[in-house]
Amino acid sequence: MTLFSCEDITFRYAGIREANPTLTGVCLSIPKDCIFGIIGPNGSGKSTFLKCLYRSLSPTSGKITFIGNDLGSYSTRGLAKQMAVVVQTESASIPLTIREYVRLGRAAHHNVLDGFTAKDESIVDEALAELGIEEIQHRPITEISGGEYQRTMLARALTQKTDVLLLDEPTNHLDVFQQHKILQTVRKKNFSAVVVLHDLNLAARYCDYLAVLDHGKVIDMGTPDEILRADLIEDVYKMSINRFVVDGVIQLVMLPLES
Ligand code: ADP
Ligand code: MG
Repeated sequence: MTLFSCEDITFRYAGIREANPTLTGVCLSIPKDCIFGIIGPNGSGKSTFLKCLYRSLSPTSGKITFIGNDLGSYSTRGLAKQMAVVVQTESASIPLTIREYVRLGRAAHHNVLDGFTAKDESIVDEALAELGIEEIQHRPITEISGGEYQRTMLARALTQKTDVLLLDEPTNHLDVFQQHKILQTVRKKNFSAVVVLHDLNLAARYCDYLAVLDHGKVIDMGTPDEILRADLIEDVYKMSINRFVVDGVIQLVMLPLES
Protein backbone atom coordinates (compact mmCIF):
# COMPACT_ATOMS: atom_id res chain seq x y z
CA MET A 1 0.00 0.00 0.00
CA THR A 2 1.23 3.48 -0.83
CA LEU A 3 1.70 6.09 1.89
CA PHE A 4 2.58 9.04 -0.33
CA SER A 5 2.36 9.21 -4.05
CA CYS A 6 4.13 12.24 -5.52
CA GLU A 7 3.57 13.02 -9.17
CA ASP A 8 5.82 15.50 -10.89
CA ILE A 9 6.25 17.86 -7.93
CA THR A 10 7.79 21.24 -8.62
CA PHE A 11 8.29 23.77 -5.87
CA ARG A 12 9.60 27.30 -6.24
CA TYR A 13 10.02 29.71 -3.30
CA ALA A 14 8.76 33.25 -3.92
CA GLY A 15 11.47 35.28 -5.58
CA ILE A 16 13.32 32.24 -6.97
CA ARG A 17 13.77 32.32 -10.73
CA GLU A 18 11.35 30.21 -12.73
CA ALA A 19 14.24 28.40 -14.39
CA ASN A 20 15.62 27.22 -11.02
CA PRO A 21 12.89 25.71 -8.86
CA THR A 22 13.91 24.18 -5.55
CA LEU A 23 12.19 20.91 -6.45
CA THR A 24 11.89 19.74 -10.05
CA GLY A 25 9.79 16.88 -11.40
CA VAL A 26 9.85 14.86 -8.19
CA CYS A 27 8.05 11.57 -8.75
CA LEU A 28 8.14 9.19 -5.79
CA SER A 29 5.99 6.42 -4.46
CA ILE A 30 6.61 6.00 -0.73
CA PRO A 31 5.31 2.68 0.62
CA LYS A 32 3.45 2.26 3.89
CA ASP A 33 4.82 0.23 6.81
CA CYS A 34 8.46 1.02 6.24
CA ILE A 35 11.08 3.60 7.10
CA PHE A 36 11.78 5.66 4.01
CA GLY A 37 14.94 7.76 4.15
CA ILE A 38 15.71 10.88 2.17
CA ILE A 39 19.36 11.69 1.74
CA GLY A 40 21.29 14.27 -0.28
CA PRO A 41 23.71 17.17 0.18
CA ASN A 42 22.89 20.43 1.95
CA GLY A 43 20.49 22.55 -0.06
CA SER A 44 19.34 19.66 -2.26
CA GLY A 45 15.68 20.24 -1.28
CA LYS A 46 15.12 17.56 1.39
CA SER A 47 13.42 19.83 3.94
CA THR A 48 11.41 21.55 1.21
CA PHE A 49 10.18 18.17 -0.01
CA LEU A 50 9.26 17.04 3.51
CA LYS A 51 7.39 20.33 4.04
CA CYS A 52 5.33 19.54 0.95
CA LEU A 53 4.51 16.12 2.46
CA TYR A 54 3.26 17.62 5.74
CA ARG A 55 1.53 20.45 3.88
CA SER A 56 3.57 23.26 5.37
CA LEU A 57 4.25 24.17 1.70
CA SER A 58 2.08 23.56 -1.34
CA PRO A 59 3.84 22.42 -4.49
CA THR A 60 3.89 24.97 -7.30
CA SER A 61 2.74 22.14 -9.56
CA GLY A 62 2.19 18.40 -9.34
CA LYS A 63 0.08 16.19 -7.13
CA ILE A 64 0.56 14.51 -3.74
CA THR A 65 -1.77 11.82 -2.46
CA PHE A 66 -1.64 10.57 1.12
CA ILE A 67 -3.08 7.08 1.79
CA GLY A 68 -5.02 7.25 -1.43
CA ASN A 69 -6.56 10.72 -0.99
CA ASP A 70 -5.49 14.10 -2.25
CA LEU A 71 -3.25 15.57 0.51
CA GLY A 72 -5.16 18.85 0.25
CA SER A 73 -8.46 17.13 1.05
CA TYR A 74 -7.62 16.48 4.74
CA SER A 75 -8.74 18.87 7.47
CA THR A 76 -5.96 20.15 9.73
CA ARG A 77 -7.04 17.93 12.62
CA GLY A 78 -7.74 15.04 10.26
CA LEU A 79 -4.14 15.24 9.10
CA ALA A 80 -2.78 15.62 12.66
CA LYS A 81 -4.58 12.41 13.65
CA GLN A 82 -2.81 10.54 10.87
CA MET A 83 0.59 12.20 10.69
CA ALA A 84 3.03 13.50 13.32
CA VAL A 85 5.98 15.66 12.40
CA VAL A 86 9.35 16.29 14.04
CA VAL A 87 11.22 19.14 12.40
CA GLN A 88 14.25 21.19 13.25
CA THR A 89 13.11 24.73 12.75
CA GLU A 90 10.63 25.15 15.59
CA SER A 91 11.83 27.73 18.03
CA ALA A 92 11.84 26.90 21.71
CA SER A 93 10.87 30.38 22.84
CA ILE A 94 7.50 29.52 24.40
CA PRO A 95 7.69 29.36 28.21
CA LEU A 96 6.33 25.83 28.67
CA THR A 97 7.74 22.93 30.62
CA ILE A 98 8.75 19.80 28.75
CA ARG A 99 5.62 18.05 29.99
CA GLU A 100 3.32 20.88 28.90
CA TYR A 101 4.94 20.95 25.48
CA VAL A 102 4.71 17.18 25.00
CA ARG A 103 1.05 17.29 26.05
CA LEU A 104 0.26 19.66 23.17
CA GLY A 105 0.42 16.66 20.86
CA ARG A 106 -2.98 15.69 22.27
CA ALA A 107 -4.44 18.68 20.37
CA ALA A 108 -4.62 16.30 17.42
CA HIS A 109 -7.51 14.57 19.16
CA HIS A 110 -9.49 17.24 20.95
CA ASN A 111 -9.55 20.92 21.76
CA VAL A 112 -6.96 21.31 24.52
CA LEU A 113 -8.70 24.48 25.73
CA ASP A 114 -11.23 22.03 27.19
CA GLY A 115 -8.44 20.69 29.42
CA PHE A 116 -6.67 17.35 29.46
CA THR A 117 -8.12 14.01 30.45
CA ALA A 118 -6.58 11.30 32.61
CA LYS A 119 -6.03 9.35 29.36
CA ASP A 120 -4.08 12.31 27.91
CA GLU A 121 -1.89 12.43 31.03
CA SER A 122 -1.13 8.73 30.90
CA ILE A 123 -0.26 8.96 27.17
CA VAL A 124 2.10 11.83 28.07
CA ASP A 125 3.68 9.76 30.89
CA GLU A 126 4.25 6.92 28.45
CA ALA A 127 5.89 9.20 25.84
CA LEU A 128 8.16 10.88 28.41
CA ALA A 129 9.29 7.47 29.65
CA GLU A 130 9.82 6.19 26.10
CA LEU A 131 12.26 9.02 25.40
CA GLY A 132 13.87 8.93 28.86
CA ILE A 133 12.93 12.52 29.73
CA GLU A 134 10.52 11.94 32.62
CA GLU A 135 13.07 13.18 35.16
CA ILE A 136 13.39 16.55 33.44
CA GLN A 137 9.72 16.94 32.54
CA HIS A 138 9.21 20.01 34.74
CA ARG A 139 12.12 21.97 33.25
CA PRO A 140 11.25 24.90 30.95
CA ILE A 141 11.91 24.01 27.31
CA THR A 142 13.79 27.29 26.94
CA GLU A 143 16.45 25.89 29.30
CA ILE A 144 17.23 22.49 27.83
CA SER A 145 19.94 21.24 25.50
CA GLY A 146 19.46 20.67 21.78
CA GLY A 147 19.40 16.91 22.32
CA GLU A 148 16.80 17.13 25.09
CA TYR A 149 14.68 19.38 22.88
CA GLN A 150 14.92 16.89 20.02
CA ARG A 151 13.70 14.10 22.32
CA THR A 152 10.94 16.37 23.64
CA MET A 153 9.69 16.94 20.09
CA LEU A 154 9.64 13.21 19.38
CA ALA A 155 7.77 12.59 22.67
CA ARG A 156 5.19 15.16 21.60
CA ALA A 157 4.83 13.41 18.24
CA LEU A 158 4.25 10.08 20.05
CA THR A 159 1.34 11.57 22.01
CA GLN A 160 -0.46 12.20 18.71
CA LYS A 161 -0.79 8.40 18.42
CA THR A 162 -0.43 8.41 14.66
CA ASP A 163 0.71 5.61 12.37
CA VAL A 164 2.74 7.99 10.26
CA LEU A 165 5.76 10.02 11.36
CA LEU A 166 7.78 12.53 9.35
CA LEU A 167 11.18 13.55 10.68
CA ASP A 168 13.70 16.11 9.46
CA GLU A 169 17.19 15.28 10.68
CA PRO A 170 15.96 13.90 14.01
CA THR A 171 19.46 12.94 15.10
CA ASN A 172 20.91 16.45 14.99
CA HIS A 173 22.35 17.50 18.35
CA LEU A 174 22.26 13.94 19.67
CA ASP A 175 25.13 11.81 20.90
CA VAL A 176 25.73 8.49 19.14
CA PHE A 177 23.72 6.49 21.69
CA GLN A 178 20.74 8.86 21.41
CA GLN A 179 20.92 8.88 17.60
CA HIS A 180 20.41 5.13 17.55
CA LYS A 181 17.84 5.28 20.36
CA ILE A 182 15.63 7.71 18.39
CA LEU A 183 15.70 5.61 15.25
CA GLN A 184 15.17 2.41 17.28
CA THR A 185 12.09 4.05 18.83
CA VAL A 186 10.73 4.88 15.36
CA ARG A 187 11.27 1.24 14.35
CA LYS A 188 9.90 -0.28 17.53
CA LYS A 189 6.70 1.75 17.27
CA ASN A 190 6.15 0.39 13.75
CA PHE A 191 5.65 3.84 12.28
CA SER A 192 5.36 4.34 8.57
CA ALA A 193 8.09 6.96 8.58
CA VAL A 194 9.70 9.37 6.15
CA VAL A 195 12.97 10.59 7.57
CA VAL A 196 15.57 13.04 6.29
CA LEU A 197 18.98 11.82 7.44
CA HIS A 198 22.47 13.20 6.98
CA ASP A 199 24.29 10.21 8.39
CA LEU A 200 24.42 7.62 5.62
CA ASN A 201 25.39 4.86 8.04
CA LEU A 202 22.30 5.49 10.15
CA ALA A 203 20.30 5.53 6.90
CA ALA A 204 21.81 2.14 5.97
CA ARG A 205 20.95 0.63 9.35
CA TYR A 206 17.43 1.94 9.91
CA CYS A 207 15.85 2.67 6.51
CA ASP A 208 14.12 0.12 4.31
CA TYR A 209 14.34 2.40 1.27
CA LEU A 210 16.27 5.50 0.37
CA ALA A 211 15.71 8.28 -2.13
CA VAL A 212 18.60 10.54 -3.08
CA LEU A 213 17.89 14.19 -3.79
CA ASP A 214 20.38 16.40 -5.58
CA HIS A 215 19.65 19.90 -6.86
CA GLY A 216 15.93 19.37 -6.26
CA LYS A 217 15.68 16.18 -8.30
CA VAL A 218 15.34 12.55 -7.27
CA ILE A 219 18.53 10.95 -8.54
CA ASP A 220 17.68 7.40 -7.51
CA MET A 221 15.49 5.36 -5.18
CA GLY A 222 15.84 1.84 -3.84
CA THR A 223 17.04 -0.28 -0.93
CA PRO A 224 20.13 0.90 1.00
CA ASP A 225 22.07 -1.83 -0.81
CA GLU A 226 21.00 -0.42 -4.19
CA ILE A 227 21.50 3.23 -3.27
CA LEU A 228 24.60 3.32 -1.10
CA ARG A 229 26.87 2.42 -4.01
CA ALA A 230 30.28 3.98 -4.10
CA ASP A 231 29.77 5.42 -7.60
CA LEU A 232 26.43 7.07 -6.83
CA ILE A 233 27.43 8.46 -3.43
CA GLU A 234 30.80 9.69 -4.72
CA ASP A 235 29.05 11.50 -7.52
CA VAL A 236 26.44 13.17 -5.29
CA TYR A 237 28.61 14.04 -2.26
CA LYS A 238 31.96 14.51 -4.05
CA MET A 239 33.69 12.27 -1.53
CA SER A 240 35.73 9.11 -1.94
CA ILE A 241 33.70 6.14 -0.65
CA ASN A 242 34.79 2.80 0.78
CA ARG A 243 31.91 0.42 1.34
CA PHE A 244 31.92 -2.37 3.94
CA VAL A 245 29.33 -4.69 5.39
CA VAL A 246 29.33 -4.91 9.20
CA ASP A 247 26.80 -7.18 10.93
CA GLY A 248 24.94 -7.47 7.62
CA VAL A 249 24.58 -3.66 7.39
CA ILE A 250 26.31 -1.46 4.83
CA GLN A 251 28.77 1.00 6.33
CA LEU A 252 30.48 3.68 4.30
CA VAL A 253 33.79 5.28 5.10
CA MET A 254 33.99 8.67 3.41
CA LEU A 255 37.21 10.50 2.66
CA PRO A 256 37.81 13.77 0.82
CA LEU A 257 38.66 13.37 -2.86
CA GLU A 258 42.30 14.09 -3.49
CA SER A 259 42.72 17.57 -4.90
P1 ADP B 1 18.06 20.69 2.43
O1 ADP B 1 17.04 20.38 3.47
O2 ADP B 1 18.31 19.54 1.48
O3 ADP B 1 19.36 21.19 3.00
P2 ADP B 1 16.26 22.87 1.70
O4 ADP B 1 15.02 22.21 1.23
O5 ADP B 1 16.27 23.46 3.07
O6 ADP B 1 17.49 21.86 1.51
O7 ADP B 1 16.65 24.03 0.70
C1 ADP B 1 16.70 23.80 -0.70
C2 ADP B 1 17.03 25.11 -1.39
O8 ADP B 1 15.95 26.02 -1.19
C3 ADP B 1 18.28 25.81 -0.87
O9 ADP B 1 18.93 26.37 -1.97
C4 ADP B 1 17.73 26.87 0.06
O10 ADP B 1 18.59 27.97 0.12
C5 ADP B 1 16.42 27.22 -0.60
N1 ADP B 1 15.44 27.67 0.38
C6 ADP B 1 15.06 27.05 1.51
N2 ADP B 1 14.11 27.73 2.17
C7 ADP B 1 13.88 28.85 1.43
C8 ADP B 1 13.02 29.98 1.57
N3 ADP B 1 12.17 30.08 2.61
N4 ADP B 1 13.05 30.93 0.60
C9 ADP B 1 13.88 30.82 -0.47
N5 ADP B 1 14.72 29.79 -0.67
C10 ADP B 1 14.73 28.81 0.27
MG1 MG C 1 17.15 20.49 5.56
